[in-house]
Amino acid sequence: MRTPLVAANWKMHGTQAFARQLLAELEKGFASSNCSAQVLICPPFPYLSLVGDAVGEGVALGAQNLSEQVSGAFTGEVSAEMLLDCGASYVLVGHSERRSLYGESNELVAEKFAAAKASGLIPVLCIGESLEQREAGKTLAVVAEQLAAITSLGLESPWQDTVVAYEPVWAIGTGKTATPEQAQEVHRFIREQLGEAGVSTQILYGGSVKADNAVELFAQQDIDGALVGGASLKAEEFVSICCAAD
Ligand code: PEP
Repeated sequence: MRTPLVAANWKMHGTQAFARQLLAELEKGFASSNCSAQVLICPPFPYLSLVGDAVGEGVALGAQNLSEQVSGAFTGEVSAEMLLDCGASYVLVGHSERRSLYGESNELVAEKFAAAKASGLIPVLCIGESLEQREAGKTLAVVAEQLAAITSLGLESPWQDTVVAYEPVWAIGTGKTATPEQAQEVHRFIREQLGEAGVSTQILYGGSVKADNAVELFAQQDIDGALVGGASLKAEEFVSICCAAD
């Protein structure tokens, strides 16, 4: 059995005061619910320690990006070791905004994945197709290519202690969600591509997940939770999503 995981991606939102307020509201919300999903919060870099100090042991801390380099003269970059030092245990790798806005290729994403693995961080590998690619019938081919970039690293067990997030680009921050059937089809395909290890790999869905569409998405056999952007900034909504993943 795979434990459900719900991950919050705060992106570049908020202030320290906002983070403290949101965390206090989340704590209250979780205290009055009895949901047992694993929860992961990925705040902006400067707030990692603040969030790590504020959340209890039941909530994991993750970063939204990392450098492929170990250390050195790389101004503005943040290494895996620094993330670990700030208490992170997870890191998003290859989020579609990194790929599309900052030019991260499959090859660079693979290097970042390798850096995360080498350090002991659990990568949350984000993959997914654009609207154009879906309409051209290329969804599975695109996802397979994104996974192949990782496999070709030749790591010993790339899919062990790794989370995969399937996020169709056309569904991120747009209010459009893949139907549960569309998502399940790709999740099953991803699991097949992962081979034997894929049986225990958590595969999250991401793309406009909200309290009112979470239940039917999570009911799908190969959907093990969600990566949540916008709705993770609203405590009540996020707690409801986490509880739907139980
Ligand atoms: C995301 O940023 O990974 C995401 C899925 O965003 P949203 O939930 O806002 O679509």
